[in-house]
Amino acid sequence: MKNLIILGGGESGVGAAILGKDKGWNVFLSDSGSIPSHYREILDRENIEWEEGHHTMERILQADEVVKSPGIPPTAPAVEAAAAKGIPVVSEIEFAGRYTDARMVCITGSNGKTTTTLLIYHMLRKAGLDAGLAGNVGKSLALQVAREPHEVYVIELSSFQLENMYRFHANIAMILNITPDHLDRYEYEMQNYVNAKFRILNNLTPRDAFIYWQDDPVIKAQMERISTDASLYPFAEKKEEGSAAWVDEQGILCVDAPGEKLRMPRADLSLNGLHNLYNSMAAALTGCIMDIRKEDIREALSDFEGVEHRLENCGTIRGVRYINDSKATNVNSTWYALESMPKGVVLILGGKDKGNDYSEILPLVREKVKAIVCMGKDNSKLVDFFGSEVPVLRDTHSLEEAVAACAEIAAEGDTVLLSPCCASFDLFKSYEDRGRRFKEAVRKLAGEA
Ligand code: ADP
Repeated sequence: MKNLIILGGGESGVGAAILGKDKGWNVFLSDSGSIPSHYREILDRENIEWEEGHHTMERILQADEVVKSPGIPPTAPAVEAAAAKGIPVVSEIEFAGRYTDARMVCITGSNGKTTTTLLIYHMLRKAGLDAGLAGNVGKSLALQVAREPHEVYVIELSSFQLENMYRFHANIAMILNITPDHLDRYEYEMQNYVNAKFRILNNLTPRDAFIYWQDDPVIKAQMERISTDASLYPFAEKKEEGSAAWVDEQGILCVDAPGEKLRMPRADLSLNGLHNLYNSMAAALTGCIMDIRKEDIREALSDFEGVEHRLENCGTIRGVRYINDSKATNVNSTWYALESMPKGVVLILGGKDKGNDYSEILPLVREKVKAIVCMGKDNSKLVDFFGSEVPVLRDTHSLEEAVAACAEIAAEGDTVLLSPCCASFDLFKSYEDRGRRFKEAVRKLAGEA
């Protein structure tokens, strides 16, 4: 029996352990931190050996193969030791991909992955396909392949997952955009991050499709450097040479795939903003390539309800709209949030700064933002940068304080937008926690109104 070592006891690790066991591997799961109790229970129920709080290196180095959780960096000592011994280290998606012939729709990009993944999943289910949701969202691919197989999977892939993918074969691969993110994990070399994203193209054949944003400067530059056998489906806001999806002068969303033409008014899309136009075009192209009925594509694009914490409408109080975009943890996603807003924005910014350069959003701030409410443990960088750029700037250190300041500043017709540009870990457990508490505070405010 071959030894499979799983590093990391989260969703992907536990799924890979179950699949590995089902497929006859001798499985051992090791986590240097603590494993959540419900995963420990699953492992015990499945008779899979595990350890937590440390790695037993003698055992790990007996592996024939290692499956590594995407959260563990390649520089972690256990990973380096395995690699130094020549043991293959793969991601859960790579491992699971070996045991299924299902069609794979794979989505990556710096921003918009979850939204686009869920939109495509919604479309495929509406069309009656037996689709599973995997990757960063939903259950692990490995667990589904082992216990509830589907005919097609829609998979959100982060650069971390892609790093350890080699033979995996997508049928439809998609890169929505590439802007600097997670550079701390890539030796601060943008090209390393770009290369990781482009691994989604590995093993594509002429029967496969590559969907990408035609105007992204980083993608464009990389396309000149590499070659792929896949059929290309670029999308752009306005038609350019080679565009497979665009919006025409009458505001009609046009999709031209071989043998398929789809037209629908842009105004019918349920998701607003330029960024969501791109996400909708990527989804529409996927639908056309997969031969989904046009009515189903149109309906899915117009009745998709959006995703929590992404430009989520939380209601209007005294004529002021409140929007939760807590998932905007980098400057680029806040840029798109502001781009989609009318003037009169009261913007909540702040949190854990990952080395942000705020100059990217400065023109939009000058044009649309009437006040910035900083919300973080240490707001000094924001105060220095924006202090002289907006009429009003408040320095707050809790969510309650920030929402109270917004309610005081905003007038009828304004929009209060939580789109913080920053990670949440200084004051919150996660961006979800930050978003939920914002919604709670808004609900409270509505009760008082
Ligand atoms: P991801 O899964 O890649 O983090 P999400 O769908 O969760 O992306 O969206 C994260 C944030 O990025 C949201 O706050 C949203 O406003 C913004 N966003 C969504 N789609 C795009 C896009 N295509 N381009 C740029 N920003 C986007």
